[in-house]
Amino acid sequence: MYQQAKYDEPLLNEIKGEEEKEISVDVPDKLKRSSLNIPNLEEWQVVRHYTRLSQMNYGVDINTYPLGSCTMKYNPKLNEEIAKWFSYLHPYQEESTVQGALQIMYELQEMLKKITDMDDFTLQPAAGAHGEFTGMLLVRAYHEYKGELEKRRNVLLPDSAHGTNPASAAMAGFNVIEIPSNEKGMVDLEALEAATDDTTAAFMITNPNTLGIFEEEILEIAKIMHKNGALLYYDGANLNAIMGITSPGIMGFDIVHLNLHKTFSTPHGGGGPGSGPVGVRGELVDFLPVPIVRYDGEKYYLDYDVKHTIGKVRSFYGNFGVMVKAWAYIKRLGGEGLKNATIRAVLNSNYLKERIKGYYELPHKDLRKHEFVVKPKNARALDVAKRLLDFGVHAPTVYFPLIVHEALMIEPTESENKETLDKFADIMIQIAKEAEENPKLLEEAPHNTAIKRVDDVLAARKPVLSWKDKR
Ligand SMILES: *Cc1c(COP(=O)(O)O)cnc(C)c1O
Repeated sequence: MYQQAKYDEPLLNEIKGEEEKEISVDVPDKLKRSSLNIPNLEEWQVVRHYTRLSQMNYGVDINTYPLGSCTMKYNPKLNEEIAKWFSYLHPYQEESTVQGALQIMYELQEMLKKITDMDDFTLQPAAGAHGEFTGMLLVRAYHEYKGELEKRRNVLLPDSAHGTNPASAAMAGFNVIEIPSNEKGMVDLEALEAATDDTTAAFMITNPNTLGIFEEEILEIAKIMHKNGALLYYDGANLNAIMGITSPGIMGFDIVHLNLHKTFSTPHGGGGPGSGPVGVRGELVDFLPVPIVRYDGEKYYLDYDVKHTIGKVRSFYGNFGVMVKAWAYIKRLGGEGLKNATIRAVLNSNYLKERIKGYYELPHKDLRKHEFVVKPKNARALDVAKRLLDFGVHAPTVYFPLIVHEALMIEPTESENKETLDKFADIMIQIAKEAEENPKLLEEAPHNTAIKRVDDVLAARKPVLSWKDKR
C-alpha cells in the first residue's frame, strides 16, 4: 500500500496508454435483448412516485438526527450555493485559470492550521478513515526515515476507539494493541505507560473520546509518547467538541485528521463524498502528500516539492466541492462563531443528558462534550432505536462504543434548539416508560413506518442486493 501511494504516476500512464487502444466487443446473440420492458407512465405519475419515495426518506432537512459520532448537524444551503459556482472547473486546467479555486484551498489549509495549531495540512484524503490511513503512512515514513521502522511495529489505541482507527493502523502494516479504559471512561495511564516502549510507533486517540468524555491526562499521555520516541495521533472527526476552546496542538498531538463532512457542516451519509484533511507538526511536514497549495505573494500554485513526501493518496487534489462548502462555513462563522458552535454542541449534549438520565442508565457520571452514551433500563438498545422511528425521529448510534453494552450514543449537535431537544427528550422518556409497561410495543416496533421490523439475521445471511423487474 505504502509503495503504491508513492508510485501512482507510472501506473497512471500505463492506464492512459491502454485506453488509447481501440475497443471492439462482439456480443453473442443469446446475450442480446429483443425488447425492453419500460414502464409506460406519464410525467405526473413518475413525479408523484418519486416525491412519495423522497418523503419516506429521512435526513437533517426533515428532523433532528442524533446519530452519535456522526455529527449530523444542519448543512446551511448557502454552502451548496457557493460550491455550485465552481462546478464547471476541470482538474486538468492550467493553474493560471483556477486561481480562485486554489485560493480557497490555500485559505482552507491556513484556517485549519489555525483551528488545530498544526504547521501544515494536506487536503487530499477523501474521508476520515482515509485521513487516518494517510496519517499512519506518515507515521511509517517518519520512523523509516529515522531508521526505526523495523522495531516500531506497534500502534496503541484505547478500547473506546472508533472502529476505523484499528483498521487504518492495521492497513498501514502496524500491529494494533488495545489499551483499557479506567472506571471514569478514560485511558488507563498505568496500562498505557506499561505498553509504551521503543516498539511503539504511535498512540491513536480521539479527545473527547467516543463516550464524549474529555481525556484530562492528555498532556501526560503526550509526554509518555514523546519520551519513548513515539508519535501522538489525533482523530479529529468531531472537532465541534473542542474547536475554538482548545486544539490538538495545545494538547501535544503530532498528527491530526479532521472530517470536514462532520465538523464543518458538509452533507454526508449514504456513502459520501467526504473530506479528511490531515495536519502535522514539526519534522512531519516534510512527509506530507503532494501537491500542497502554496502562495508566492502573487499567485497560488501546486507545490510538488516536499522533501520526503509519501506521494499522492488521492487522484487530483481531493474532493474539492466539499472543501468549498467547509471553507464557506468557516468564513461565515468566523473564529467566534466556531467557538460558539462548540459551546452550543456541548451545552445541547449535556442538557439532553440531564433531561433523560433518570430514565436511562448513565455508565459514567461526569460532564460530557458533544455526545454522551446511555443504556436503556428495561429494553435492548435496538428496540429503543426501532421505537423512535414510530415518532418520526432518527435513532442514535447503537451498540457503540463497544465498552458499553446496549449503548445508545447520542449527539444532538449544535444546530438543534431547546424546542427540538425537549421534543426528543420527551419521546425518549415515553419510550423508557413503555419499556416498563408494555415491552412488546418496543420489541415489535416500528409500527408506523413503510417497512416494519426487518429480519437482521436473514438480511445478513441472504442479502438481496439488487432490484430486478420480475414481471
Ligand atoms: C466518523 C468518524 C471516523 C471515520 O470517518 P469517515 O469519514 O466515516 O471515514 C473516524 N473517527 C471518528 C471518531 C468518527 O466519528
